[in-house]
Amino acid sequence: MIGLISATAAGAVARDRLAAAWPGRAVVYDGPVREAVRRAFAECEQLVCFLATGAVVRLVAPLLVDKAADPGIVCVDEAGRHAVALLGGHGGGANALAVDVGEVLGAAPVVTTATDAVGIAGLDMLGLPVEGDVAGVSRAMLDGAPVALRADAAGPLPALPPNVSPDGAGPAVLYITDRIIELASQEAVLRPASLAVGVGASKDAPEDEVLGLIRDALAGAGLSPLSVAELVTVDAKAGEPGIVAAAARLGVPLRTYPAAELARIEVPHPSDAPLAAVGTPSVAEAAALAAGGELLVPKRKSQPEGRAAMATCAVVRRAPRGRLAVVGLGPGARDLLTPRARDELRRASVLVGLDQYVDQIRDLLRPGTTVLESGLGAEEERARTAVAEARKGHAVALIGSGDAGVYAMASPALAEAGADIDVVGVPGVTAALAAAAILGAPLGHDHVSISLSDLHTPWEVIERRVRAAAEADIIVTFYNPRSRGRDWQLPKALSILAGHREPATPVGVVRNASRPDESSRVTSLAELDPETVDMMTVVTVGNTATREIAGRMVTPRGYRWQSAPDSPAGESAR
Ligand code: SAH
Repeated sequence: MIGLISATAAGAVARDRLAAAWPGRAVVYDGPVREAVRRAFAECEQLVCFLATGAVVRLVAPLLVDKAADPGIVCVDEAGRHAVALLGGHGGGANALAVDVGEVLGAAPVVTTATDAVGIAGLDMLGLPVEGDVAGVSRAMLDGAPVALRADAAGPLPALPPNVSPDGAGPAVLYITDRIIELASQEAVLRPASLAVGVGASKDAPEDEVLGLIRDALAGAGLSPLSVAELVTVDAKAGEPGIVAAAARLGVPLRTYPAAELARIEVPHPSDAPLAAVGTPSVAEAAALAAGGELLVPKRKSQPEGRAAMATCAVVRRAPRGRLAVVGLGPGARDLLTPRARDELRRASVLVGLDQYVDQIRDLLRPGTTVLESGLGAEEERARTAVAEARKGHAVALIGSGDAGVYAMASPALAEAGADIDVVGVPGVTAALAAAAILGAPLGHDHVSISLSDLHTPWEVIERRVRAAAEADIIVTFYNPRSRGRDWQLPKALSILAGHREPATPVGVVRNASRPDESSRVTSLAELDPETVDMMTVVTVGNTATREIAGRMVTPRGYRWQSAPDSPAGESAR
């Protein structure tokens, strides 16, 4: 039995909702809270307390016996936003109870036991539609109970916890399939986006006719509409209202192909009617097959009563495509890692990166994530590894510091990647931007980044670019400015800039931006000491208008210091 205890009016409302949802499973303990908790603690296997965690900790502290005997306890906050598994996460079933309470009250389960903290709070968090006993299977996953994985071609899934595996004995079962299957309790199915539905329609074919045809075709073949990735048709039908509406109702995008492209695709059932109307002997089958795949439902027509059919459709199953996310981690600080980057890290089942960057985000990965880390210098190999893993159909995250496309992994990876995998980029806060924010506003006008590393770029090329920036009065941020073996490049580059800028031109030096040992200073072209610069540093040199104001580096947006851009004074000054 689950004992329910509350203290406030809001708590009582939520408590009663839970009691109503769980007749025979939960019982309300009324009266003074201390006494209610004491009785429930003695009599129930589990407690749900609509009280602050601190209050519950104080109330149960004198009652605790041991891990095996104590009940599982879940706390729900006043606003009903969080269901916190406070005590007995595994043994007492509090983790699973938090999931269940969350389902009823719309609260987020908060689970802090080690194996679950960065795991999945529920199956519905994996980014795929899910059906069946979602709470039952989530519970088993959270409890570390064996879950049998029955996957058809899976596609790029996030890492699943180690207790979910093809060898899992059940009774909990997780299917990954587009097929319609009978589900028992403790069984759930994730729906991969594996199906494409080709659709043809004559002008003004009704939405219900198109949608009904698609639903019948899928049902007839034992396929789930939740696995439909997209509707596809010919360009000429891009605005056909019945098709557009059917796609909207299914919640999928509509993609179209030129008739000439469809005409080239071999199909089992070509016909003259579409050839005359839109210029291809097949719309539904050809569009469905245009991106490859296996034809599961050949062309079929709608069957409206009392008139000719106005719609056709065909269904294709596509081979799963791997997914490569190229993720910028930002300069170092956790709060400069974007939420999108975090999501991509948690969406991946394979992580590829430089060991020191992996250390930066290891705690964010899902348990079960395969980590392929390597040392400095192995860039090409890292890129190849990441692409090869994606080609196998996995969800891969390739990480880089700052932005992964700036002097980093995106270029070698995308040089390697073909059209056979999906690629997504997640921008990151670059070292130049992080440094600029520390220095003040040095990048207020045109600026450029130049890497002083001549390991991969001949010095003549670097020097030509520095010269061009100098002549054009562009603010310059130097990356890779100086290392033990490369010490003359920075002074040389600065001397080129000094040929076109005053000795007093502000220069910002930022070391380890946003990292624990961050340091920075604003100096000048004349006074910068290259000895203070190393490979953890960026150096930003202002243009001829940049000033040091109150210790901060500021470049004006225009070349008129005095006038505000939109003020009347600004206007008259033009
Ligand atoms: N992709 C990264 C740059 C990688 S090149 C980005 O977008 O920022 C490596 C160089 O970047 C280093 O030699 C250093 O010059 C600079 N750098 C990277 N992180 C930095 C940080 N936190 N503080 C200062 N400089 C940094």
